[in-house]
Amino acid sequence: MADDLKRRVEDVRGSLVSWRRELHKKPELGFEEHETAALVAGRLRELKLVVETGVAKTGVVGVLQAAQAARPPVLLRADMDALPIDEAPGRPYRSEVPGRMHACGHDGHMAMLLGAAEVLTGAREHLDRDVVFCFQPGEEGFGGADAMIKAGVLSKHGVGEVYGLHLWSLFPVGTVQIRPGPAMAAQDEFVATVIGKAGHGAMPHEAVDPVLAAAQAIVALQSIVARSVDPVQPAVVSVGAVRAGTAANVIPESATMHGTLRSFDPGIRELLRRRVREVLEGTASAAGCRCEFTLYPGYPAVINEAASVERVRRHATAVVGASNVVEPAPMAAAEDFAYFLNERPGAFAFIGAGNVSRGITAPHHSPSFDIDESALPIGTELLVRIALGE
Ligand SMILES: [Zn+2]
Ligand SMILES: [Zn+2]
Repeated sequence: MADDLKRRVEDVRGSLVSWRRELHKKPELGFEEHETAALVAGRLRELKLVVETGVAKTGVVGVLQAAQAARPPVLLRADMDALPIDEAPGRPYRSEVPGRMHACGHDGHMAMLLGAAEVLTGAREHLDRDVVFCFQPGEEGFGGADAMIKAGVLSKHGVGEVYGLHLWSLFPVGTVQIRPGPAMAAQDEFVATVIGKAGHGAMPHEAVDPVLAAAQAIVALQSIVARSVDPVQPAVVSVGAVRAGTAANVIPESATMHGTLRSFDPGIRELLRRRVREVLEGTASAAGCRCEFTLYPGYPAVINEAASVERVRRHATAVVGASNVVEPAPMAAAEDFAYFLNERPGAFAFIGAGNVSRGITAPHHSPSFDIDESALPIGTELLVRIALGE
């Protein structure tokens, strides 16, 4: 089977490229992936899988039943949404929808997973577990993974392990990159409004100045990373927006700060959330103000299970060779596959999709983003090997 596998993947190479381009031309935003879902579901039905649509609004789940299941199903995941970006002109398969673009590679993720479904359907007699093909909506800030889990994609099928891939244009094509433990950051945002008492700028003793209190709070916030966080743990506290006042000689009623928190360790994440609130409220209170604080929780950190990473490494070595299986540094970007990894063992790997000699170097979420399509069969073969999971 193993020798035969490369040929079977090679047989779908042309389909991978045409599915990817077809999807690329018709990008849809998170939880609006109606045509996308129809295309995916249609293809899975052609393969005679058990298909469920409208999962968490626009999600699609296909189940390939093993001839004889000896262990719990494995879930393989692709995300389906595009971004509100106008694609740069020049490519024959450019987005046909103004202001919408597959600028993160999710079109390729769907193509790779459809390819894996086709190859695995043809290799069904070698499967010893069912395979759940999970096409989730809304990765780009909508938490579609969380919605799919709440809709029962893991519990209903009794999923035992979860795997996801991300094409990555900043990694060279031909490589597979994966690291055990924390791989991508948790992200939270906060809004804090310091409320004092408005007054004349020349008579500060008659007012309570929220601008001074906010300024002191912003400085004090940086002491959290310096003094509360273990120095060998990465953490970021950034205040990106500050709004207060209307005129030089008026002390305003309030000052508002909008910030972001990044971390990799769940304990550090909790610590940042707690200390940011304490520092803001304490500093405001010391200045005679009060503080209204709201935390907007983002995605948790992507934390890969060590044994699953070892399995992926072994399979990736069979696909691209040991020297092309690389351990990347943790990334401060966030990814909602984290929700799946909070529920089940598994791993999230990057498939290199950049190619300097072909000018494919634009970062994700750029209007010039593209992938080297020779990454697609690499991803498909890796998914197939994971599912067969020898
Ligand atoms: Zn993205
Ligand atoms: Zn993405």
